[in-house]
Amino acid sequence: MHCTKCHNEASIYIRRHNTAFCKEHFIEYIYGQVEKAIKKYKMFEKNDQILVAVSGGKDSLALWDILISLGYKADGLHIDLGISEYSEKSKETVKKFAESKNLKLHIISIKDLYGLGIKEIAHKNRKTPCATCGVIKRYIMNLAALELKYNVIATGHNLDDESATLLGNILHWQIDYLKAHSPILLEDEVGFARKVKPLYRVSEYETSAYCIMKKIEYIIDECPMSIDAQSLKYKEILNIIERDSPGTKEQFYFGFLEKGKIYFSPEKRDIKLNNCKICGQPTTSEICGFCRQMTKANLEPLRIKEFVIKLKDS
Ligand code: SF4
Ligand code: ZN
Ligand code: ZN
Repeated sequence: MHCTKCHNEASIYIRRHNTAFCKEHFIEYIYGQVEKAIKKYKMFEKNDQILVAVSGGKDSLALWDILISLGYKADGLHIDLGISEYSEKSKETVKKFAESKNLKLHIISIKDLYGLGIKEIAHKNRKTPCATCGVIKRYIMNLAALELKYNVIATGHNLDDESATLLGNILHWQIDYLKAHSPILLEDEVGFARKVKPLYRVSEYETSAYCIMKKIEYIIDECPMSIDAQSLKYKEILNIIERDSPGTKEQFYFGFLEKGKIYFSPEKRDIKLNNCKICGQPTTSEICGFCRQMTKANLEPLRIKEFVIKLKDS
């Protein structure tokens, strides 16, 4: 098989586009897809300060590498979830990547701050680890962006993640989630920094290939808490359909953004934000979800804020 661009031997075949690329043109294709996403949704400009949430997996490391390669100003934020060996390995992988490229990385460790990992906090709270983790991660990302003066938070959600989430939201008719489902969430919708997903046009297979071609070491293991995650089942279902009918995921997700979403959000969402009575962060209630969760688990919600403020001064 030959590269569609230069006719040299191809390194990868993208079934959904019926296109093959050599290494150089595959990387160029990925850059093109990400630039297209950034421009289409006006995610950020070259002078914006971007904070990339990096877990150590292929998607977030690929995203960080792509943004830097394209000339954007992007620092990393790693949240150490305190999930035994998995978190240790993830942290080391991210640190190694940042050091190898001389990039700025902020690390916030839940276990160092509270003596407990996500699983133990969830247990105290009688919630699932993923529900607890989601609240904590969102809170820390917002807090870090605000205190450390970043105006954009970028996450490594790819086409597979976004189409699986969309499928789940449609199956359960989660109208509020469908309204909010977008590659960009603006400041006035989330209360803090803009949140963007520049990889929404790139598949999981393509981010792995990008990492392999660019020799980026990433953690292959999935989080041990993800075993029961419903989203993995939706991904599996979409993969089965995609195998028979390449391009289905793209048509499903891009079709929703271009033709379907309008039916769920005919007008701008009217969200009233208050300042959390404990930590001061914007919330739709009196006390934000994070402070409620930590208080219920007998943990001090403000400890993370104090730590992030110290990070700013260091
Ligand atoms: Fe957090 Fe659950 Fe994802 Fe693990 S699988 S990182 S616990 S949300
Ligand atoms: Zn080529
Ligand atoms: Zn709060």
